[in-house]
This record gives sequence, structure tokens and C-alpha cells, in this order.
Amino acid sequence: VTMMRKLMVAGNWKLNGSQVMLRQWLADYAESAADREAVEVALCVPYVYVPVLKELAAADVTVGAQDLSAHEKGAHTGEVSAAMLKDVGAELVLVGHSERRQDHFESDALVREKCQQALSQNLTVVVCVGESRQQRETDKTFVVIKQQLDAFSDLITADNVGRFLVAYEPIWAIGTGLTASAEQAQEVHQFIRSQLAAKDVTMARQIRLLYGGSCKGSNAFELFSMPDVDGGLIGGASLTAEDFMAICREA
Ligand code: PGA
Repeated sequence: VTMMRKLMVAGNWKLNGSQVMLRQWLADYAESAADREAVEVALCVPYVYVPVLKELAAADVTVGAQDLSAHEKGAHTGEVSAAMLKDVGAELVLVGHSERRQDHFESDALVREKCQQALSQNLTVVVCVGESRQQRETDKTFVVIKQQLDAFSDLITADNVGRFLVAYEPIWAIGTGLTASAEQAQEVHQFIRSQLAAKDVTMARQIRLLYGGSCKGSNAFELFSMPDVDGGLIGGASLTAEDFMAICREA
């Protein structure tokens, strides 16, 4: 981490939660002691809870959603657009999560279109990239990451770099308890930053790169101490404010 990039710790509730749970989380968060200046806190909840989050969240919690449509509007049953997210108060959206890429067959081209939709509404976008266990074991990690990155990296500009983040989430580390070592994370984060620097050195220095995959209070400090790790994307450990704030305190 460097002083010029403010750390972000973003929770991803996935398909979990309820109004009761969200209210409790926000009440616990409000009471917790943490340096609210040092880290930007975001919470990505299921769509239906975005308005509740917007209504009840303290001003220092960035209101996040977990995905969005690649379309602006029209005949796309079940989809939620960037403008709708904006309309109900979302400020940030996750794109390209491996669970979307795997379970919903989302391609790099679709991920790019979703980024464009998010940017069109000035939403902060956190794009996830990451290799599978098999890809890592066959030395394809950097090839895979580069391909995923190349699909959207030309959309990152000096103007939007403050609200464009990349999250490195090795698929083998998500929800498995198997965290990437700090060195493994740093190696890929450095690779991502160097790929971006080949296009624009200033942008690459400014962009925040989050790590995700079994990040928790006990390993957050080591991960966040790495020079190119600018925070975390937190799944399981974001479901209670207590576990989540334990991570924020390490930032
Ligand atoms: P995890 O999930 O923290 O439960 O591993 C991270 C993510 O998928 O964003």
C-alpha cells in the first residue's frame, strides 16, 4: 500500500442476508471503533436491500450492489440496470465475479459491457479477475489474468481511475479457507499493475487493487502490508460487522 491510494475494504454478501441482518450489521458497525479515515468501507448487498442500505448506512459506508445488467434497458427480464442502481442510491457495483463468470457463463466481452454500463452512470466499479486452481497448477495464472484484464483495461482513464478498481480473487481461495499467501497475492497484484503501467504509468500508480479470497481478521494485516495490495473484497467474513471490522482494523 502507499499513502496515495486510500485502502478499500468491501463486503460482498452474495446470496445472503435479510433486512433484519442488515439493520443489525449497520447498528454494530456504527458502534464499532475503527479509523474511518484510513479505509473506505463498502458493502455490496443483494439488489433488494440496496435502498435499505442507502437509507440506514452512515455517510462513511459506500453503498454497493453485486452486479448489473450489460443492457441499458428493454426486454431483459430479471435484469437490473446501472441507472436503476443509481436511482435507489447505489454508488458502487461489482462486475465479473468468478461466481458470475462460472455460474452464469459471463464472458470477458460481457464483463466489459457491464463496466461500460456502470461507468455511464458514474458508479464505482470493482472488476474481479482470478485464476482457477487448475490454471494455477498448469502455470496459466498470468495468461488468464492478462486476458481478463485486457478485456476492460482500456476503459480505465485518468478521469475515472478513482472509481475503477480491480479485485484479484483466485478462485481456489474463494470461500475455501485457503487464502493466497501475501507473497502470492503481491506477485499477481504487481503483475496487474505492471500490465496497466504499460498503458499509463500514472493511472497504474493510482488504481486500487483489492485482494479477495478467504480474507479475514487474522490474515488481513499481512495481505494489506504488501505494496500493491490496496485493500480487500470480503465474502464470508463480511456477514457480521464484528468479523468485517476486524479486517478493517488491520487496514
Ligand atoms: P470469501 O469470498 O471471502 O468468502 O472467500 C470473497 C469473494 O468471493 O468476494
